[in-house]
Order: sequence, then structure tokens, then C-alpha cells
Amino acid sequence: SHLPALADIALYHAKSKAPGTVAVLDEELQRDYRRRRDLELAIPTGFSEGQFEVWYQSQVDLVTQDVIGLEALIRWRHPEHGVISPGEFLPLVERSGNNARLTRYVLTDACRALQRLAAAGMPQIRIAINLPPSELADHSLAADLRDTCERYAVAPSLLELEITEGSLINNIASASDTLRRLRRLGATIALDDFGTGYSSLAHLRRFPLDKVKIDKAFIREIPESAEDKAIVGVIASLAGTLGLTLVAEGIERAEQAQAMREMGVRLGQGFLYHKPQPLEAVLRQLAEAGGNGD
Ligand code: C2E
Ligand code: CA
Ligand code: CA
Repeated sequence: SHLPALADIALYHAKSKAPGTVAVLDEELQRDYRRRRDLELAIPTGFSEGQFEVWYQSQVDLVTQDVIGLEALIRWRHPEHGVISPGEFLPLVERSGNNARLTRYVLTDACRALQRLAAAGMPQIRIAINLPPSELADHSLAADLRDTCERYAVAPSLLELEITEGSLINNIASASDTLRRLRRLGATIALDDFGTGYSSLAHLRRFPLDKVKIDKAFIREIPESAEDKAIVGVIASLAGTLGLTLVAEGIERAEQAQAMREMGVRLGQGFLYHKPQPLEAVLRQLAEAGGNGD
């Protein structure tokens, strides 16, 4: 089995504590392990029973407050454990070899959502989908995206793929190839979590990108932190020079939105505007916003 042995986990926990700590398989550890094992084994049922749900969070024009796009964020509505966050179950999806399946699932949901937006006469906005690193080496991704778009009569230019720098570096040749194919179809590419991990400024020029999302770690202490403001300022001026669209993630306070506007960051995402929510709720809000008339 691909599940780590219980003893390995105990050892890992012991190592992460003070040196010399004896590895004790305490109750908490066993519960942890059992939960993970149960969740991993339940993934196929999760798919077949429709327990995975795609929620959507708005991307907002910080000046006009208009919703200009949505990000698709996966949730697992487990019959016993309730709604489980991706941070917990995505590693299990990956380990059980289900990354491609999950990505198709989200892609299909996003295309259906775009079809519904169009049917409701809403303005055309883009939906962003998160790609796990393994999907950048998946040679069928671009063709599947094209086919899914065709099936739901959606323009591929309404889809954006969010990738991280780590996934670019692991396999530069195949990642570049996949990105080129996706862009040829009209889809756009966003670099997620920028500023964390490798954050090499050279990547911004080297890979075919349209958008950069500044990680929420840099937004959290703005406007208090002069350092974080300086970092965002540098990213903003570089993005301007390279013709990349910038998005600030994790905007929770009005002062943060204000600081971003002042630095020329036009787009933002965060709890100040909307939390991720089921499509029905998003559709209602969009309809209300449209109804107020601009
Ligand atoms: P991410 O791509 O960076 O997504 C943004 C995360 O920040 C989401 O967490 C969102 O709920 C959260 N967030 C949004 N606004 C705020 C804010 O104002 N404050 C704070 N504190 N958080 C905010 P979520 O939904 O738990 O997703 C976590 C991560 O899981 C995502 O990070 C992404 O890496 C991954 N993920 C989510 N859905 C998918 C998916 O469908 N496929 C793949 N491969 N990964 C996904
Ligand atoms: Ca993302
Ligand atoms: Ca992010």
C-alpha cells in the first residue's frame, strides 16, 4: 500500500519534537493516522457519490469593485466528517494518483458554471482553476480542456490556469510545453502564491504568463509593515514593466485594498469582498450587483 506505516509517522512526529523524545504511538497520533487512511480510501466513493464540491471566490477590480473573475476552490462534503478543506485532502488525492481526475472534475464544474453565467445573461467573467504540479506534465490536459470547453460551448479564453513556481521548476521542458498548448487554445496562465518558495523574478520573464498573484503572506501586515509594502511595490513595478496583470490575495481589510490601489495593484481577492461559496450563492450576488445598476 502507498500509505505510510504507522511507525514512520510516529518516528516523524518524534523527530520533529525535542531530540531524544521517545516515539510514542499516542492516541492522538493513531486518530490522525486513521482519519487520513479512511479519507484516502474514501476518495473513489467521494467521486462516484458526488461528494466533491467546487466553490467559487470572486476576484474584484479594486477601483470599481466589479467582480471580474472567480477562482474555483475544491471542497469535500464528507458524509461523516462534514466539509473538509483542500489543505487536508489534496495530499491524499495526489498520493492516491487522483490529481488528473480531480482536475477534470473542477474543469467540468467550471465550464458548467460559465455556461450558467452565460445563460443567465451575466457579463462574461473568467474562472481560474488551480493546477497541481503533476498536471503540468500531463500531455492530455490541453486536449481535455479544449474538449470540455466544446461540450459546454465555453470559450477557452474564459479559463485561467493557476500554477505555482515549484511546478515550473520540477520539469521545465514539459511545463513550458503544457503552458504553450493551453495558451494557444486561448486560456490564460496565472502564477499563484508569488513571493513564497522560489520567487525568482526571472521566472516572470522566462515562462509564458499573463497574471501574477501576490501571496497573502505579503498582504497580511500591510499597511503596518513597511518591508512588505516595499516588496509588493517591487513586484508591482516589475509586473508593470513585463505587462503582467497583478492580483493581491487575502485582502481582509479596507486599508489593505487602499494600499494596493495606491501601489497600482488593480485586482484583489479576499474575505473583505467574498469568501469562497457555492455557485448558487455567487450567482445570487452577481444578479444583485447587476440589479443595482452601474
Ligand atoms: P490558493 O490557490 O492560494 O487559494 C487561496 C486560498 O486562500 C483558499 O483556501 C481561500 O479560501 C483562501 N482565502 C481567500 N481569501 C482569503 C482571505 O482574505 N484571508 C485568508 N486568510 N484566506 C483567504 P482554500 O480554499 O482552503 O484552498 C487552499 C489551497 O488548496 C489553495 O490555495 C490551492 O493551493 C489548493 N486548492 C484549492 N482548490 C484546488 C483545486 O481545485 N485543485 C488544486 N490542485 N488545488 C486546489
Ligand atoms: Ca490559487
Ligand atoms: Ca494563492
